[in-house]
Amino acid sequence: MSRVGLLGGTFNPPHNGHLHAAVETRRALHLDAVWFVPDAMPPHKALPIDTPSPEERLAMTRLAADTVGAEVCTLELTLPAPSYTARTVSILTEQYPDDTFWWIVGSDMLLMIQNWVDSATIFRCVRIAALARHDADADSIAAHAEYLRKEHHARVDLIDVPPVEVSSTAIRDALRMGICPPELPGCVYDYIRERGLYT
Ligand code: ATP
Repeated sequence: MSRVGLLGGTFNPPHNGHLHAAVETRRALHLDAVWFVPDAMPPHKALPIDTPSPEERLAMTRLAADTVGAEVCTLELTLPAPSYTARTVSILTEQYPDDTFWWIVGSDMLLMIQNWVDSATIFRCVRIAALARHDADADSIAAHAEYLRKEHHARVDLIDVPPVEVSSTAIRDALRMGICPPELPGCVYDYIRERGLYT
């Protein structure tokens, strides 16, 4: 009977915002584990042209997850793209019927999760843990959590911690300019340098 947080993402590349989400959710909800779940391809956004291969994103995700004692679940990389969260959580809850899962999201994803394919399955299979990505998000995610509870019978837990304002987009932009962003874990930066990614 484990309590497990699932942090789905493209991790293109993984950054301190992802690590912050994993660590703070684990702490706040007394989770036994957090699994990073890299997608094969997100349903909701196009990938930039210089996106590394799925194997390279997986390698970077493993390096980053290791720094906070999190694990990596490769399920979505073994299934056909796009990676629908409803499919992922259906499989995981069937595979691990005794465990309780949370799908961890930042505010950008919380605000649209009801529009994801088969969101009713997501809300049935897992609880949602949500964190603000910007200071200004706090009010909107609290209101949206209430809407999801009322209108979609979602079980939403807000993780009330100061945000870490970083995105993979900002990290990629910095790397393309030859800058090593402070929000990028050192081990991931070394991997990016060795492979010549995002140049
Ligand atoms: P991109 O800039 O390429 O869109 P991203 O930074 O949003 O990428 P993803 O891998 O798409 O990163 O995000 C995976 C999950 O992690 C999403 O639920 C997202 O909301 C969440 N997340 C990303 N960055 C943060 C952050 N700084 N704080 C909290 N959650 C975050």
